[in-house]
Amino acid sequence: MNVPFVDLTAQYQSIRPEITLAIQKVIDENAYIKGRFAKEFEEKFAEFLSARHCIGVGNGTDAITIALKALGIGPGDEVIVPANSFVASSEAVSNAGASVVFVDVDPDYYTMDPRLVEAKITTKTKAIMPVHLYGQPADLKSLRQIADKHGLILFQDSAQAHGATIDGEPIAEFGDVLTFSFYPGKNLGAYGDAGAVLCNDENLAKRVNMLSNHGRVDKYDHEFEGFNSRMDGIQGAVLTVKLKYLDQWTESRIRNAALYDQLLGNIEGVEIPRVQKGMRHVYHLYVIRTSERARLQQFLKENGVATGIHYPIALPNLTAYNHLNCRAEDYPVSSKYQDEVLSLPMYAELTEEMIEYVSECIRKFFGP
Ligand SMILES: *Cc1c(COP(=O)(O)O)cnc(C)c1O
Repeated sequence: MNVPFVDLTAQYQSIRPEITLAIQKVIDENAYIKGRFAKEFEEKFAEFLSARHCIGVGNGTDAITIALKALGIGPGDEVIVPANSFVASSEAVSNAGASVVFVDVDPDYYTMDPRLVEAKITTKTKAIMPVHLYGQPADLKSLRQIADKHGLILFQDSAQAHGATIDGEPIAEFGDVLTFSFYPGKNLGAYGDAGAVLCNDENLAKRVNMLSNHGRVDKYDHEFEGFNSRMDGIQGAVLTVKLKYLDQWTESRIRNAALYDQLLGNIEGVEIPRVQKGMRHVYHLYVIRTSERARLQQFLKENGVATGIHYPIALPNLTAYNHLNCRAEDYPVSSKYQDEVLSLPMYAELTEEMIEYVSECIRKFFGP
């Protein structure tokens, strides 16, 4: 059996007529950049998260850079970022002109470890930026307390966590600003690049909107220099269609994860994901850990099962951050896990047979 790592075609087949119609309408109205289809999505996504404002932008990386700039965070300021994430999280901080300060992740949940954050706070710190890695919300309640105590912004990189909740509340309830990516492979994916910034503060929303659109107040009237990073009408229309199905797709991911948990939970040598109390983990990725990763990955490949590694080099250990002089031993959890994490196929359309097959292969690899 062949089990791909993701299967965007399967999802597309299930909504094809609606998508075709939605895209056709955008073209009929020439509403290519921003426009009413992007606006409709912004309104629906804000409502989905119980946030007051949503501004569509070009991609999830720009969303972070633009939101930081809109908050007035830049040169001379520090932002605390988890050591295990996709490079966009830290890259966007640097692109805003601010300095990245890495903090290690929790050994059980893989998200920013709140117990380590206060030691990283200096007089220059302006924001704490948890990432809801793999789809599990970071411990926002603890981080909120730390942020409030030190007068810092709580900034959520939510690129992997569409639909995640804490105690049943949308994650937007717990932070000042959230950014999303709608990269095609994300839980809510566009058919191209797209991203969004969400917040409750009207002035901040206005600045984000202006920054993403050349700092313009009106056509050819620019209050400051900004970016060209706007949501396309076609992406807005596609996302509006897909948003209707997001909860259903998320429930499927959660069911799929539960089946993996059940089939892999008692295999010696495999660590299955742990979910912190109160968190709705939306399983952007289903990540196991094993000290036999290279051999297991090869074995699965030979048996038709595609896997991924998120991420093979922890951020402080990347060449891109040599100038920060980070030492791997200062980020012991991330530096150890970079050699152990393995992402199994995970998407809503994954069948029970596929999950059983993948799990059976893993059981075979580890022996009786
Ligand atoms: C995907 C991702 C981003 C960047 O989003 P793009 O839309 O690809 O720019 C940022 N942070 C995290 C954690 C991501 O997974």
